[in-house]
Amino acid sequence: MLSLSDDELERYSRQIVFSDIGYTGQLKLRNAKVCIIGMGGLGCPIATQLTAMGIGYLRLVDRDVVEKSNLHRQYLYDVKSLGYPKVEVAAQKLKDLNPDVKIDPVPMSLNVDNAVEIIKGVDIVMDGLDSMETRYAINRACVKLKIPYIFGAAIMNYGNLSTIIPGETPCLECFFPDIKDNMLPTCGTAGVHPSVLGIVSSLQISEATRIIVGGKPHLTNKLLFVDLERIALQELDITRMENCPICGVKPSKSPQQLKRRFVEEICGRSGKRAFVIIPKENLELNIKDLYRFLRKRGAKISVMADLGLTFLYDQNVSASILKSGVMIAKGLSGEKDAIKIYSEVIKDGLNIPWSRIQ
Ligand SMILES: [Zn+2]
Repeated sequence: MLSLSDDELERYSRQIVFSDIGYTGQLKLRNAKVCIIGMGGLGCPIATQLTAMGIGYLRLVDRDVVEKSNLHRQYLYDVKSLGYPKVEVAAQKLKDLNPDVKIDPVPMSLNVDNAVEIIKGVDIVMDGLDSMETRYAINRACVKLKIPYIFGAAIMNYGNLSTIIPGETPCLECFFPDIKDNMLPTCGTAGVHPSVLGIVSSLQISEATRIIVGGKPHLTNKLLFVDLERIALQELDITRMENCPICGVKPSKSPQQLKRRFVEEICGRSGKRAFVIIPKENLELNIKDLYRFLRKRGAKISVMADLGLTFLYDQNVSASILKSGVMIAKGLSGEKDAIKIYSEVIKDGLNIPWSRIQ
């Protein structure tokens, strides 16, 4: 459809009278498809704003359930959402905000093996992540598919962002090569002020909507540092590297190897260790079958959602399993415990062959 309805004219009137967007800009927003990877402190405001503005289609990708420590900065969730898959809660809230937007919740863990599959078909990818390795997987998939990627990151009082247009601007690995996640502070250990997330996410949205509407984005060939301690924005010019192993014309070495890890330790709480298990394939579990098996085994199920379950496995271990097969378990003594539980529930309980799992 090439025109806006009366309802749309009223809802978006303040954007339509604004010359930077206007009537045709609003139509372009309605035709645009955006994928947000990570529905945390950046992903929540990005998704909310784009939905309110009338984007046509939003794909939300996240592998977590809502935790209490998310609530100070992730405004799409509330106390009733605890234990629910983030993408499911977010999709419902966003539909209430704007039923015209098509929202596609994807409860998966993005990695080097599935990045292309997850992001294909969209016009722009937005970064709401806290891991460089996952960002590298997105960067490579975006370069391959020639999809613009709005890089953004924030911690403590600081943030940085850049707009990456494959083939035109430096890619992430031109200006941030070979960064290991264990070299960086995390939100769990260093903390983050919600205000810096608001600023970084707003700038990411501004860049994305400029691309969609046809205006020129500001942060191409630039890396912007946001410093909320001094209220300062600093732009750094960046250039494409001829020898970049990802986007360079004369790559000088092979790309840093990225690997999907089957089991990974994540931030635990009160001395208890926590792990996430990421299966090889999207297992598309039948949640009702999973519910029945866990009940039979004596697990106490606290949340049953369409896209996942949260439960007490035994006295010590609490866990969530998402429809894709991702499991997050807490209160374990080590990696072997996590694999044992996964094997008991997914392989034996649901009869999924191990070849699809690891
Ligand atoms: Zn590059």
